[in-house]
Amino acid sequence: MSYNPAPNILKDCIILITGAGDGIGRAVSIACARHGATVILLGRTTTKLEAVFDEIIDSGFPEPGIVPMDLATAGLEEISALAEVIDSRYGLLDGLLHNASILGERVPFDHYGIDQWQQVMQVNLNAVFLLTRILLPLLQRSDDSRLLFTSSGVGTTPRAYWGAYSVSKYATEGLAKLLADELANTSSVRVNIINPGATRTAMRAEAYPAEDPTTLKTPEDLLPLYLYLLGPDSQLDHGKTFTSDWLD
Ligand code: NAP
Repeated sequence: MSYNPAPNILKDCIILITGAGDGIGRAVSIACARHGATVILLGRTTTKLEAVFDEIIDSGFPEPGIVPMDLATAGLEEISALAEVIDSRYGLLDGLLHNASILGERVPFDHYGIDQWQQVMQVNLNAVFLLTRILLPLLQRSDDSRLLFTSSGVGTTPRAYWGAYSVSKYATEGLAKLLADELANTSSVRVNIINPGATRTAMRAEAYPAEDPTTLKTPEDLLPLYLYLLGPDSQLDHGKTFTSDWLD
């Protein structure tokens, strides 16, 4: 589908994006700002978030917020404090993109590190639950908000050796579908899943070190789909999974 978002399609929207300092999250953050959104940039490496902040400001887009947060350790207190800051500064959220994830190791199951398993589940699933649980009331204050979860091909088809990453994406899909069902008739929050597919980022290079990255689509190639799913044109979409095939 060919989709050309209107220049100001996200004007005055407040959108929180996790993993905003690099890869897909970085590109989506800048694109949302270009289309008028005030983006709250959440990530674990402050210098990367600052670089995205500077790029947005230098381009003359709305001033973003920066939230340095390590989702491997962030708990109820830290995320509740974030919710309070968003509440006092913006009053609501129009979008939440769960994008940050870690890959973990790819080894036979009986070699999978116990700590590694817990860390991947913490970042990719438990932090997603906690952020959603605490920020949902702010999304519900918007007349038309978007809650977007990020999955992967290994979140619907298991792949040997992918361990906790694959299981965390299955669980993410489950969480998204459960919430979609729960919110369908009771809320204006639209809940969907995106599987970006093979994309030229650090995570992909870590997973497939021998691959020629120039053969892959870039995060920028995905932007129409992300802008669609985070903006008002996806108002009728709920409980669905989108892949980059949508762009064909
Ligand atoms: P990426 O380049 O590795 O970027 C991931 C981002 O998440 C980085 O900004 C990273 O921060 C942040 N992050 C990681 N751990 C974090 C933590 N503990 N706390 C806060 N932030 C953290 O990955 P990507 O390829 O853009 O992937 C984005 C999403 O797409 C992920 O959910 C991934 O599973 C999914 N996906 C990607 C592909 C692909 O081919 N790229 C395919 C399918 C699905 P730092 O930069 O500071 O490390």
